[in-house]
Amino acid sequence: MKKISIIVPCFNEKENLFYLNQKLQEVFLNQPKEKYSFRIVFINDGSSDDTLLEIKELKRQSSNIDFISFSRNFGHQQAIKAGIDCVDADAIITMDADMQHPPHLIPELIEKWEEGFDIVNSKRFDSKNQSFMKKLTSRSFYALLNKLSYVKIESGTADFRLLDKKVIEQLRNLNEQNLFFRGVIPWLGFNQYTIDYYPDERRFGKTKYTAQKMISLAITGITSFSIKPLRISIFVGLFLSVIAIFYMLYALYIGFFTDRAIAGWTSVIVSVLFIGGLQLLMLGILGEYIGKIFIENKKRPNYIIDQIDIFDENK
Ligand code: UDP
Ligand code: MG
Repeated sequence: MKKISIIVPCFNEKENLFYLNQKLQEVFLNQPKEKYSFRIVFINDGSSDDTLLEIKELKRQSSNIDFISFSRNFGHQQAIKAGIDCVDADAIITMDADMQHPPHLIPELIEKWEEGFDIVNSKRFDSKNQSFMKKLTSRSFYALLNKLSYVKIESGTADFRLLDKKVIEQLRNLNEQNLFFRGVIPWLGFNQYTIDYYPDERRFGKTKYTAQKMISLAITGITSFSIKPLRISIFVGLFLSVIAIFYMLYALYIGFFTDRAIAGWTSVIVSVLFIGGLQLLMLGILGEYIGKIFIENKKRPNYIIDQIDIFDENK
C-alpha cells in the first residue's frame, strides 16, 4: 500500500475548501483502494478568516484529513515546506486550494510516478481567462529569471507537482529562508516529467498573491539562484568608466590646449544624476544579497506551527 499525501497551502480560502475536498475525495474513490491510501494535509498559513474552522469541520466529516496551522502568515512556499517536513508519505502532491490546479490531473501525476519519475511537474498553458496583466507579468518574470539565473525554469510551471519520497528527503535538508520551489526543483535533478494543463479559474475569492508578494517572490527567485545581477554591475561600471576616461581626456585636451571651454551645466547635471541613480540601483542589488546573508545567517525556522494534527499510524 502506497501512501500519498496532498498538501494544500491555504491563506483565507474558507469558501474553496469544501468544494476542493469534495473533488479530491472523488478522485481518491476512483483509484484502486488496495494500492493507495490518500490523505489531505491542509496548511493554514495564518488565515484571518475562518479557514481553520472550516478545515476542522471537514476533518470531522472525512477521516483522511490532517492539518497544520501556522502562528501567522509565513507565505505559500513556507507552507509547502512545512508539509514536506511534517508529512510521512511515499509521495506528496502539492496543489493550490483555489481549484486552479485541477484535481482530475492527480491520476495522471500518479501514473507518471509509477512509470518511474521522481518528480512530476505540471505546466499550465496560458489560459484565456487569465487577466492580461497576470499573463504579462508572469511572462516577463520568467523571461528575466531565465536570463539571470543558472537553472532553467520554464514559464508557466506552478507549484502543482508530485514528489517522490527520495525527493522529499532531499528537500527536508534545505533550510534556506528564501525558498523558491520553482527554482529548487529543476536544480535538484532526478528523473523529472512535466504534464501540461489548462488552469481553471479561481473558484472563490481573489488571488492571495498581491503585487507586493509577487515582486518579492520574483526577487527571491532571481537572487537565490544567481549572482548575475552583481556581475552586471561590474560590467556596467567598467563600461561607464571607459566612457568617462575618454571624456576626461577630451575635456583635459580642450581645457589645456585650446581657448574654448566645454559648456558645463547640462553635461554635469546629466552625468551626476545618471551615475547617482545607477549607483543607488547597484547598491540596492548589493543590499539585496547582503540582506539575504543577514536573514539566512540568523537560522530562524522557516515557519512556526501553532497547531498540528497529522495522522500517525505508529501511534
Ligand atoms: N497562499 C498561502 N500563503 C500566502 C499566499 C497564498 O498559503 O501568503 C496559498 C493560497 O491559499 C493558494 C496558493 O497559495 O492555495 C496560491 O495562491 P493564489 O491562488 O492566491 O496565487 P495565484 O494562483 O493567483 O498565483
Ligand atoms: Mg490561484
